[in-house]
Amino acid sequence: MVRPKFFQSLMLFLASICMVTAQSGPAVQQPDLRGFDRAGSDRERSLEKQFDTYLRKENLRDWMKRLSARPHHLGSPYDKDNADFIAALFRSWGYDTNIERFDVLFPTPKTRLLEMTAPSQFKAKLDEPSLKEDATSGQKNEQLPTYNAYSIDGDVTGQLVYVNYGVPQDYEELERRGIDVRGKIVIARYGGSWRGIKPKVAAEHGAVGCLIYSDPRDDGYFSGDVYPKGAWRPEDGAQRGSVADMPLFPGDPLTPGIGATPNAQRLAIKDAPTLTKIPVLPISYGDALPMLKAMEGPVAPAAWRGALPITYHLGPGKATVHLKLEFNFNTVPAYDVIARLAGSERPDEWIIRGNHHDGWVNGAADPISGLVPMLEEARAVGELVKTGWRPKRTMIYAVWDGEEPGLIGSTEWAETHAEELQSKAVLYLNSDGNSRGFLNVGGSHTLERFVNELARDIVDPEKEISASDRLRARAILNGDSEARQRSDLRIAALGSGSDYTPFLQHLGIASLNVGFGGEGEGDGVYHSVYDSFDHFTRFVDPTFDYGIALAHTGGRAVLRFANAVYLPFEFSNFTDTVGRYVNEVTKLATDERDAIGEKNRRIREKTYDAVDDPLLKLSVPKPEAPAPFLNFAPLQNAIARLKESSDKYDAAMRDPATA
Ligand SMILES: [Zn+2]
Repeated sequence: MVRPKFFQSLMLFLASICMVTAQSGPAVQQPDLRGFDRAGSDRERSLEKQFDTYLRKENLRDWMKRLSARPHHLGSPYDKDNADFIAALFRSWGYDTNIERFDVLFPTPKTRLLEMTAPSQFKAKLDEPSLKEDATSGQKNEQLPTYNAYSIDGDVTGQLVYVNYGVPQDYEELERRGIDVRGKIVIARYGGSWRGIKPKVAAEHGAVGCLIYSDPRDDGYFSGDVYPKGAWRPEDGAQRGSVADMPLFPGDPLTPGIGATPNAQRLAIKDAPTLTKIPVLPISYGDALPMLKAMEGPVAPAAWRGALPITYHLGPGKATVHLKLEFNFNTVPAYDVIARLAGSERPDEWIIRGNHHDGWVNGAADPISGLVPMLEEARAVGELVKTGWRPKRTMIYAVWDGEEPGLIGSTEWAETHAEELQSKAVLYLNSDGNSRGFLNVGGSHTLERFVNELARDIVDPEKEISASDRLRARAILNGDSEARQRSDLRIAALGSGSDYTPFLQHLGIASLNVGFGGEGEGDGVYHSVYDSFDHFTRFVDPTFDYGIALAHTGGRAVLRFANAVYLPFEFSNFTDTVGRYVNEVTKLATDERDAIGEKNRRIREKTYDAVDDPLLKLSVPKPEAPAPFLNFAPLQNAIARLKESSDKYDAAMRDPATA
């Protein structure tokens, strides 16, 4: 069709006139960008304006539709198809592109049986039905069933015990009530911790099996109407996910610390330390309800109760379940797409920008909503190259496979290239999904000022104020006393949970994770068949305006790093934050010591006995060993030295003559 194209060109032409007019108006002096001189800042800002003109929302929508059209988990045919498609895009945009393959352990289910054998019979469906309102939900023969990856095989029968979120303090509560999970099957609800912690802690307490269900209190009808009427988790929706012991190490369970290349030395599956110790299965609240309803024993504490129409009991009682799980422990290929644009002046300084491409099922929100803005960003960078511009430093776009089962593609790549990365990588910038709302940035505090500068230059599409102003306004509404005084907003430290981990926590490369969120309703379909194009375009970011905002953010970040005269790190905010962390741990030691002392005193003085309701038959907690005094002086001295160094660095940056 000619007409829409013509219309598009006309709009572009008008837009470019508007831009020229805007630029030729009275120049508002903007502060220099960190890492650039005056003239460099102006050049950089006009380059970024040019970059913005290339971005097209239609591409985000089209690519999301294409990439989420079929299930594309690690090892599936469409996962490979997507990797090839993405590699072809990068090649067409002028990137030197290759696909790096790793061979990794990825179990998929062979048998999934969950039944209640007493006091009545009930067999769990373990199925997410297809919906006529959701075009991809019926692709049954390509979907991975609901399961937790890296659970071991098992065939166990036991009484049920409800353990709330299944974190250590929940087991202390159970112990006070005289409930022991040894030989039992625990049922935990999702939330309160990373899911892999639940079976680990359950096994440590002697449980023989673990069920994890999605309570409607957390992401179902308590939050809003359920899908397809609303966005939230329906009765039969369940959350897939990895339960590997990732705090031990992420990546392929058989090749810790080294890349899973063809000749790599591999552990035997029986020796893989990150597999669970007991079988684990995620279930829907539809499947959980009859079992929870049949439970006896004490009523669960108020904070443990969810939103199901029952009285929550802790068990154990007559309610007994049989759980049988068997997996195909196959080795499958993981395909990372790696696309390079060589730097013109400093080719041995690398800026790495990544997002994963594998999903649990169709994965429109997770990860495609983060991937398509990154692709559009890379395409626009390719357009800049066509005009004769080259980055000073090397830019590498990485599209990871196998993030969902355990950060596999990124970890294996980082392990394979560890030495080169440690000498060359200057930044790793990650995204992993995108929604509507506020700019979320977490990462290295040496980049806090850089991020603040960036956030001031990003326009929030709903409010037409800067992303930074919107964040500050929220902080003020939340009563954050600093938000009015401190010129820079703080950025959160990164834990784990996405592909920045091998770069930040293993290799020590400064890293950031970026994305918008807080308003889109995506939580209720997380890791289910309903995380689809249809769901995303109704409830998460229907217009893709925030997808474009993410492309603005990621694009500016990598362009500034690629073009800067010196790398835009800053150390006084870093020192300030590290100083706060030192104060926090010092205070934590004192608080913990006081709390243990107080608890032991209450036990000694029979305070619990005086208060506890005798009908509840609570046992008195066991006394704890008093907390020792710790010596924080070396840490405090190190902070003083850090402060001295960062002051000198800042002075040198302000006035090179003093250096
Ligand atoms: Zn993801």
